Amino acid sequence: MTRKEDLAANLAAVRERIAKACAAAGRSTDEVTVVAVTKTFPASDVRLLAELGITDVAENRDQEAAAKVGECRDLGLTWHFVGQLQTNKVRSVVSYADVVHSVDRKRLVTALSREAVHAERSLSCLIQVALDDAEGRGGVRPAGLPALADALVAADGLELGGVMAVAPLGADPAPAFARLAEIAASLRSVHPAAKMVSAGMSGDMEQAIACGATHVRVGTALLGGRRAIVR
Ligand SMILES: *Cc1c(COP(=O)(O)O)cnc(C)c1O
Repeated sequence: MTRKEDLAANLAAVRERIAKACAAAGRSTDEVTVVAVTKTFPASDVRLLAELGITDVAENRDQEAAAKVGECRDLGLTWHFVGQLQTNKVRSVVSYADVVHSVDRKRLVTALSREAVHAERSLSCLIQVALDDAEGRGGVRPAGLPALADALVAADGLELGGVMAVAPLGADPAPAFARLAEIAASLRSVHPAAKMVSAGMSGDMEQAIACGATHVRVGTALLGGRRAIVR
């Protein structure tokens, strides 16, 4: 099999899983966007995925993302940044990202806004919500979300797109995604335009779709296993 055939088969399997999950939830497949998480994989894979109909691509490290975006400019893709974001990387990320999924603190809102205005870009921002007490995976506690949402809405150059979460490690994802659905609904009651719910990865996209995910972030199921990266 060529790499393209490989990716095509993986994509077909992912689309089939999404179709089944949508049918079970009484949702239309149009409501769910596949965001291909291409971290650790080459720009050539991004190109093949684009040929296969992928429109949305995500990366989690600025250095790798910036290089890959540079090689794929002609493809007209929507680029998502899904990794933890340090303020010193904000200028670079704003130069290529269309959507940032990992906004979890006020300082980041301030920095993103400043750079978006400077670059004359409009950036869609998702607030990453921490669904468990695990440290180090990013995300604002649910109690802190309303204030962060207000700050985002007030910030020039930024739009509040919705929420993002990663299910707790080693636990049933369903209760966490149900909690996220409640959080997303209460956010929409104040900010109706914040419709995006970024949840679900290769291992738990069904549970996320059952709970209203609009964007599933799929790496392994599309591209195969990643080698451990030494930082
Ligand atoms: C790597 C990554 C994914 C994709 O994970 P898979 O299990 O490989 O599908 C999704 N979201 C984030 C934030 C990631 O860093």
